[in-house]
Amino acid sequence: MNKARQIVRQLLEEDVKPLKVKQGTREERYEICPHCNQEILEKHIYLGEDGFFHHSDCGGPFESKPPDLSQVPGWLRPYCEKARDPEFRKEMMRTNWDERQRVEMERKL
Ligand SMILES: [Zn+2]
Repeated sequence: MNKARQIVRQLLEEDVKPLKVKQGTREERYEICPHCNQEILEKHIYLGEDGFFHHSDCGGPFESKPPDLSQVPGWLRPYCEKARDPEFRKEMMRTNWDERQRVEMERKL
């Protein structure tokens, strides 16, 4: 029987007095932009046309170290390799740029 179930059964069967809830602490790690010293929030990074990641709040570029592909599961590796292909990246950037231009144009109309 698992521990939680055992405790529930115990609570149902016995007259257990209420106890004070305990509190735990955990370490929280987060990234800080080296340019503006602000926390880099989720989705506040973009891949610039220079191939570096940038903090979208201030535009500062980061050194980006490519992850070790040997740590990536086999089925995911071909996609990672494709994402690293400079021609593919250029095409993706162009597509994203064209899409952004289109959205801007529509906004102005
Ligand atoms: Zn920044």
